[in-house]
Amino acid sequence: MNALDELGKAHPFIQIAVSIFKAGLTLELTRRENDEKVIALNLTMCDMMQTLTLLKQVVNVKEPGPGGLSIEDRLKQRLGSIIDSIKRCAKVCDSYQKRPTAVKFFTSTKWQGKFTQVAQQFADHKAGIQFDLQIHASVGITTANVTLTAMSTSFTELNENVSKLMEVVFERMRTPEERDLSALVAKEAGGIDAVLKNDKLLEEVLAKQKAGPRKDKDERGAKKRAVPGQTLDAVLTVTDLRMEVNKDVEQVLADNKFFDQKFEAMKMQVDEVKVEIRHESDRVIDTILAGPHERIVDRDLYHVWKEMGWKGSVKAKHLVMALRDHFAEGSHAALAAIRVITQQKKDGSDPAAAAQAMEEIADIASRADPHASPEDEWALQFITVLRIQPLIEALDDDVSSFVTIAEANAFTAARPQKWSLPHWIAYWTYGFEMTVQWYFRRIRKVISEITQATVEALPANRKIIGDFISSWTVRWIEDFLSGLRDVEQWDSTDWESDVMFLKFKDYVVENERKLEHNLRGVKYYLDETNTLSIVAGSGRPEKYVMPLIFILLRRSLYIVQQAHTVTLHMGELAVIQYSLMILTDAIWDRVQTLKAVHKLQNLDDKEQMKKFFFGLYSFAFEEPEISDYWKRDPDDDANMVNDLPSIPPAPTSDGDSESQQGDLPLFHGPTTEDIDLIVDPTFDDPTSPHPTVAHSLVGHWSGSYAYDDRDGDGLVSFTVSSHDVNGAIVGSGTDAFGPYVVHGTLDDNRLTFVKEYLLPQYGQKVMWRYEGVVSPDSDSIRGQWGPTDVDWKLVVYGEEPEQETGAKEEASSDVSAQQPKAEETTTPAAEVPEIRVDEAEDAHSGEDANEDHDDDGASDAGTAVSGMTVGYIHGTFFLTRRPVEYLISCPPDEEFAANRPRALWKLALNATLRAVQSRTLSWGLLSARRKQRQQYVELLKRRQRGPWRGQDVEDAQEWAQLIKGIHPGDLHLWRCIALYQLRRDVIHDTIYCDACRKSPITPTRFTCMNCSEDAVDNSMDLCIQCFSANRHVTRDKKVHHPTHNVIQYRTMKWRVYRHPTFSVGRDMLKWAEDQLQLSQARSAVQTTVGDTAGSSGLHCVVCKTSITAPPYWCCLTCNEDSAVCYACNERMEREKEWLYLRGTFAPNGTGPHNWSHTLISAPGPEVITAETDQEKAGTIEERIARVEAKLDASNLKLDARLAALEDLLRAVLAR
Ligand SMILES: [Zn+2]
Ligand SMILES: [Zn+2]
Ligand SMILES: [Zn+2]
Ligand SMILES: [Zn+2]
Repeated sequence: MNALDELGKAHPFIQIAVSIFKAGLTLELTRRENDEKVIALNLTMCDMMQTLTLLKQVVNVKEPGPGGLSIEDRLKQRLGSIIDSIKRCAKVCDSYQKRPTAVKFFTSTKWQGKFTQVAQQFADHKAGIQFDLQIHASVGITTANVTLTAMSTSFTELNENVSKLMEVVFERMRTPEERDLSALVAKEAGGIDAVLKNDKLLEEVLAKQKAGPRKDKDERGAKKRAVPGQTLDAVLTVTDLRMEVNKDVEQVLADNKFFDQKFEAMKMQVDEVKVEIRHESDRVIDTILAGPHERIVDRDLYHVWKEMGWKGSVKAKHLVMALRDHFAEGSHAALAAIRVITQQKKDGSDPAAAAQAMEEIADIASRADPHASPEDEWALQFITVLRIQPLIEALDDDVSSFVTIAEANAFTAARPQKWSLPHWIAYWTYGFEMTVQWYFRRIRKVISEITQATVEALPANRKIIGDFISSWTVRWIEDFLSGLRDVEQWDSTDWESDVMFLKFKDYVVENERKLEHNLRGVKYYLDETNTLSIVAGSGRPEKYVMPLIFILLRRSLYIVQQAHTVTLHMGELAVIQYSLMILTDAIWDRVQTLKAVHKLQNLDDKEQMKKFFFGLYSFAFEEPEISDYWKRDPDDDANMVNDLPSIPPAPTSDGDSESQQGDLPLFHGPTTEDIDLIVDPTFDDPTSPHPTVAHSLVGHWSGSYAYDDRDGDGLVSFTVSSHDVNGAIVGSGTDAFGPYVVHGTLDDNRLTFVKEYLLPQYGQKVMWRYEGVVSPDSDSIRGQWGPTDVDWKLVVYGEEPEQETGAKEEASSDVSAQQPKAEETTTPAAEVPEIRVDEAEDAHSGEDANEDHDDDGASDAGTAVSGMTVGYIHGTFFLTRRPVEYLISCPPDEEFAANRPRALWKLALNATLRAVQSRTLSWGLLSARRKQRQQYVELLKRRQRGPWRGQDVEDAQEWAQLIKGIHPGDLHLWRCIALYQLRRDVIHDTIYCDACRKSPITPTRFTCMNCSEDAVDNSMDLCIQCFSANRHVTRDKKVHHPTHNVIQYRTMKWRVYRHPTFSVGRDMLKWAEDQLQLSQARSAVQTTVGDTAGSSGLHCVVCKTSITAPPYWCCLTCNEDSAVCYACNERMEREKEWLYLRGTFAPNGTGPHNWSHTLISAPGPEVITAETDQEKAGTIEERIARVEAKLDASNLKLDARLAALEDLLRAVLAR
């Protein structure tokens, strides 16, 4: 590298290639784990760049050679393509490494090809460079000539056959996982192809990758989530795997769009002229080394090291103690020594002795210099035994408990230019803790601001923001922060003017600015650990974790604020979530290292974690305990810190300082919801045009499609409007995703068409390619569908597997005979004209096609050559030349199987009935449709939350049954309604009902205050049904009773708010009780005295009726203390206002009470549960009796009551 750097300086024209080369290489070297194959590829790149160093021997690069061109001219011509190759190499490596292990394994042949291609480019460039140099060598650069020949021979062998080289590389350098996989494949007859067809085996493969070394932290409702350290394979399904395996490598490269950004960020970092910071106290290192200490740069450290007689490394604790002694006592000791010398020589007038004394004093002074400096005096007080722990952590980067000379030098070199060593040490013993405490408050402030901003967000963004808040990565931040020790000790610190903090603040703020600048460079997206090290630098995460969390959350705040006016794109907050996940990965690694060290040293891990990094790692991956953290109100923290004045633009040379100011705009344009796109749902032309050609497809069709692993989205209707003599067909139709058009060709019985939706989905134009076979009577079409841009081919089911060679021969003859269209990717098996067509009268729906799926798999076996050519297919489809009404009215297959005539009769009846109904639009039909729609919307919402797996069989069956009976025109509208609701639903993700185990709870969550008092995670929660039914719950040793006080949430809440909410809740209950007692006492007075004051007491803030006894609710959100009656709250539940309204429209949460407010219940003393009527009557009678008794008593003891009232009034007023 250094040689190349020098070369770049000497010959500026190659500098750009050098820096791009360095960027590419650094990217690979900073990766956490590197694949040896990638390293091998990078070596071929290094080899090529090595050839450039031969330039050194060229005396004058500008001297024209044969043909009039100088070496510089010649090389310049090559440079462009060399740079392209380097970039490509980096992209190939990056994309390859990002593939999940299983995918890498199954696609290894493809990647081997790509690697070979890149390596070949490097070999070509190398040969080219050598050629250029040799031309000049022949003219007379003799020295170069010699070296050239030597070099070219040494590498010829390698370059002779690049493809052979890569073959060997891919064969030998397999990762252990890949070796395991190939052992598995070897066991299976038929090799890779057979494994790829075998669902069970693939599940196994994925399960093995999932099992990884890391434990699943979040057990509650975390089934579909990645967890720190989980491999990429963990979230992969068999379908995904097949799809990924079949993706073309070029496609993978094209999809890796983020790479260019990342590469640019890396290049910027490499290009940044690394100014060697020289500190005043730095020593000039002698070239002749006397001992290990001679390599130490800092003067103080050098003296300490030398005096102690240490070798290459020293125990961290000893070093820190010695430094403390050196600084704390050094200045005094030096003064004392000087005093001794001056006293000794005072009387002597010998000039030689005086000169010697001067020399001695100078020596002492120079040694003592930095620590004697008065401006560092303040720092010394912080270098004490009590504060050495963070200093040890800073010096001992790898937690080996030893500090090497390299670590010591790195430590001193890292300090800001103007800081002395004592200043730097004081930063670590004191300033760093201040910094962490400062960030702690600033992070909690952002959390509080996000919470407030969430209230104002458009309803359409509710789910997106809710998902973010309840994601485990964001929850992790709270767990992590809850470990911080000694928080209260810093509560009174004034972060703006604290004298000590100001000594460090500039440095801290500058670091934050750099970090933010880098994060912007990659658009806040940390896709991998190596991007994290580009952004935050390598080394221990303690240095950057707090500011990084802060900046990422501040970005989230900005996004949530934008959500007030814009419908957010799903990706906007997901990026932050992903980046946080990469951060937790780095911390996971760090914590594992620490654990291992503790184990090695026989230390109590829990105790050590409490000490290390101020305890912040204590709960990072452990169940958090209830602590002061959870009881602090984030809003209080928000008052302790101010916002920084907007950070000034960085003095960068790239001139984009403009983009430094203010927040970067949202990365995705605002989303338009599907429901806003509906224009005209009626698309079908009921009058089918007449056929114009024989076997014409013109006319009305209907049918359905299915996915590989589940049922489809419902019925499809479709009209072919033209079918010309050349086989070109044009049509249009509608399905659940709205209207679409179709263009395609019919070639013999093979139909290929592209279905293009007219409305964008998630902001994108969507197209699918369909390939099918038309039945001989042109009455039905069956086939498969998939993406348009991926190379897949139709496989016709019902085919017997054939011998590989046989299929190939057949293929060549068939292909030539049928002259397939250019865009068709037909295949041998697909050409076979015979297909099994079921009885025409049988109705076929999505499930049917699904059942055929296994057959499809089997038929692939013979035709696939390497396992790579089997196309990825999204699913199957079926179309029949019938009106949609036919399919809707059709009884299920089982009925046909059981009794065919009766089923046909039923079909006729159903169809007639529907026809009659649709003309009369009876109430019965309307309400049936309404029910059907509700069912559809509910099921679709559940389906959207995650693909159905084994546990949701009932849902899947219900869905399959339901979608068979819905008209495509309705389907689209209903789907839009479901998606509309989905974005707005209040979903308490990760929370389940402790009574009925339903998860997630939606939309209203009831958390018992009495049972959740000492819980961080395992709060006692109920769903609306269980709460309304007054259910008792027993969990662990806790028994929840309906008389407990319950908090009602209709918004997503960060966990940090739970306990502060409890304490506000308690205050409110007390207030309400007082109000009740007051009015009770008053009314007692009134009954006798006849007073007319009436408006006091407790009233429902909504309906204004007076509340005289529990049960009632108290609102914790309304600015005024207010109560709500049960009836009003239940009405809000029924009216589902959250689907249309924001939490509040008024700023600062003022304004009338609404559905989003958090309430606390004051349940009645005895809640009427599901008892028998007699028991119920009993309790009511009892209550009446008690009230009467009370009244009697109050009448009897009027005087006493009046006295009590006075006391009570005084008490209330005093509060
Ligand atoms: Zn429940
Ligand atoms: Zn309870
Ligand atoms: Zn009311
Ligand atoms: Zn309210």
